[in-house]
Amino acid sequence: MTFAAVVLLGALSAPKTWAQAVTYDGCKDIRDIPVASVVNYSLGDIAAAAIAPNGAPIIYYNPRVLASTRWQTRLFFYAHECGHHALGHTLQGLRLGQEQEADCWGIETLYRANLLTDADVAMIQLDLSSFGRGDWTHLPGPMRAVNLRRCLGTTSSGSSSDETQSERAGSSGNFSNVLREVLDSTSRGFRNLRGSPDPDAGGEAWNAKVALPDAVECDVWVYRDRSLGQRYDCDMARETDSSAIDADFESVLGKLSDALPGWSASEKASTRSARRRTVFTKGDNSPEVTLEIHERSHGSRPYILVLAIDPPDNK
Ligand SMILES: [Zn+2]
Repeated sequence: MTFAAVVLLGALSAPKTWAQAVTYDGCKDIRDIPVASVVNYSLGDIAAAAIAPNGAPIIYYNPRVLASTRWQTRLFFYAHECGHHALGHTLQGLRLGQEQEADCWGIETLYRANLLTDADVAMIQLDLSSFGRGDWTHLPGPMRAVNLRRCLGTTSSGSSSDETQSERAGSSGNFSNVLREVLDSTSRGFRNLRGSPDPDAGGEAWNAKVALPDAVECDVWVYRDRSLGQRYDCDMARETDSSAIDADFESVLGKLSDALPGWSASEKASTRSARRRTVFTKGDNSPEVTLEIHERSHGSRPYILVLAIDPPDNK
């Protein structure tokens, strides 16, 4: 309850400076100990729940990452991390299901306190869907978005006629051919690969599975609001250690070089979310093919190799 009241202050008075407005007396852990918010610019995630060496509960947050999201989404991230403390997760070992529990605790708490409307929840879902996997270490965006609606028991109905999963272009053919096909469709914003409406995006987003050979899973996301962009995103590999993921990186890098003659590859500095990153482009108005290693803060296979294709106008 204290948590809701303090967050309400922050949300009403200055949503844009929410990170400063909501400080530390808002959230309490399972022992009823107030949780402190601590700025951490090197945090490779939006926010993280932690226990200080003296046993005090903490939520670290990165204002630079928070600034790029809607206030509704920042509120949700804070509530999610608070949920880890309130449910006692930070005092236990890691366990499957904790992320979903923290999601539900967070969204339910905010929703019940009337801090979020249905429209706000839809905004959060859109934000989560548009994040790359590395921006949000817990679950891929689309999976997370589905979960929020389930927490509130307000699964949108959606027209069942076009909810069949589409399995398109990539189901046959070799790596180069499929890659070419996806690259060609960037000039049309992936519209020809557009899949079914995402049942949880309120008619705002479409998703299709277009698999690259050897990829674990690939998705095409197209949004009605063009400013949200379009994206082709492949989970190429997941590994438990850094040397294995480096080997995967080299292997896919080789395939990309073979498949993209005449393109230039540049090694980019690592970012908050990417440990290694190479971007392929061809001239000025070209799509970008990005190969990145993401590292999650927990999970049995924390290293993820992601291949993403962005149309030229996403830059
Ligand atoms: Zn979490």
